[in-house]
Amino acid sequence: MKNNNKIWDVIVIGGGAGGMFAASIAGSRGKSVLVLDKNKNLGEKLKITGGGRCNITNNEPDIHKMLKVYGEAAPFLYSPFSIFGVKDTFKYFESRGLPLVVQARNRVFPVTEKALDVFKILEKEMEKNHVVVKSNTPVRRINVKGALIESVETNNGLLYAKSFILATGGMSHPETGSTGDGLKWLRDIGHSVKDSSPDIVPLAVSDNWVKSLAGVSLSFMKITFYKDGQRQFSKTGKILFTHFGLSGPLILNSSKKVDDLLQNEGKVTASIDAYPDTNEGKLEESIIKVFDNNKNKIWRTILKEIVPSGMQKAIEFIDLSLDFNIKVHSITKEDRKKFVKLLKNLPVNITNLMGYERAVVADGGVTLQELDMKTMSSKLYKNLFIIGDLLNISRNSGGYSLQICWTTGYIAGMSV
Ligand SMILES: Cc1cc2nc3c(=O)[nH]c(=O)nc-3n(C[C@H](O)[C@H](O)[C@H](O)COP(=O)(O)OP(=O)(O)OC[C@H]3O[C@@H](n4cnc5c(N)ncnc54)[C@H](O)[C@@H]3O)c2cc1C
Repeated sequence: MKNNNKIWDVIVIGGGAGGMFAASIAGSRGKSVLVLDKNKNLGEKLKITGGGRCNITNNEPDIHKMLKVYGEAAPFLYSPFSIFGVKDTFKYFESRGLPLVVQARNRVFPVTEKALDVFKILEKEMEKNHVVVKSNTPVRRINVKGALIESVETNNGLLYAKSFILATGGMSHPETGSTGDGLKWLRDIGHSVKDSSPDIVPLAVSDNWVKSLAGVSLSFMKITFYKDGQRQFSKTGKILFTHFGLSGPLILNSSKKVDDLLQNEGKVTASIDAYPDTNEGKLEESIIKVFDNNKNKIWRTILKEIVPSGMQKAIEFIDLSLDFNIKVHSITKEDRKKFVKLLKNLPVNITNLMGYERAVVADGGVTLQELDMKTMSSKLYKNLFIIGDLLNISRNSGGYSLQICWTTGYIAGMSV
């Protein structure tokens, strides 16, 4: 195998959000840095974050509150977040000409709402700091010598460095290049890696009425999940209807618990309350008013005045015993009550979680106990630094994943 004689200060494997950030930080310290990525272009996943708008972090400057989101990983993250936290993310991007804005649920976006602008900042920083990028260069394996990483193997032969930053990401959206290679290598060299499963992921459902609403997003809905008819938990927020089922922040952040429900035998269902802040009695009163004002009209023609915008067509699919072709004055009290109940309990049958291809992040990763969190270095191989989605840190959607990339990328870049 061809040997490339140069010994880099740092080789970064994977040029996603974490890898690019870490590379530019290491470069800013005068280190010679080489980034290797198997894709033609870097940052493919970063460019699709937040639906192309990039939810860059979450505006929670209180470390204690922020870290609650990371569950069992929280105790490991105090030190990293006190080195580079949310305020530092604001400072880093804003001082480089990318103003940020806080939106609903404390989510932070670039004012331009373009993920590409975040990518461009990282690209510019790498260039400024003389980082060398070799794209179209898949790494095949990492080679160990004693308690150190010695080289990486590519199509172009072996490449050597004093330190290696592993930033190959997790397994969600594999078309962006994240296919779990790093997780396999870490296992091979003796690290404990928790198995991966799709996390923060949309739900597949069997109901045609849901699919008929593909593209509609309704902002104030309550969804309650059931296992074999037994109530499990409820959440209120925005639901996005898709051609395969349900998505949107509310659903994504429920997916972990739904996954647990799907693990054992039994039927998992849900019901959506389209009017969570109105009880059945009040809802019926307001519907009666609409009916009184439209007695001679056909029921289906006035649905738009009652049901949430965009839902009129779907509602006709759900309960076929209701005939929306009759005149309003012919609606029986029984059917009116049935209609009210329907709007408070739209039925959903959950069949599955969508797979890696639609997951925002995949669960699992290297066990944090095996890392020195003040440097992000492996306790088994002192010159190996592990960052971003490779770490076993569960979290919700809301900017928390990219903040992990900035935090751990900064620390690794400063420590190599
Ligand atoms: C649709 C979607 C939307 C998201 N939106 C948000 C959001 O708004 N806010 C948020 O905080 N998080 C969001 N996330 C999560 C966030 O994108 C990830 O947490 C983040 O990109 C992880 O960065 P990373 O650098 O660890 O890995 P990645 O971004 O996955 O980068 C890994 C890189 O390694 C390269 N690579 C892999 N294997 C090899 C190999 N063998 N050789 C060479 N290179 C290799 C890949 O090509 C890739 O470029 C979203 C994720 C998805 C899928």
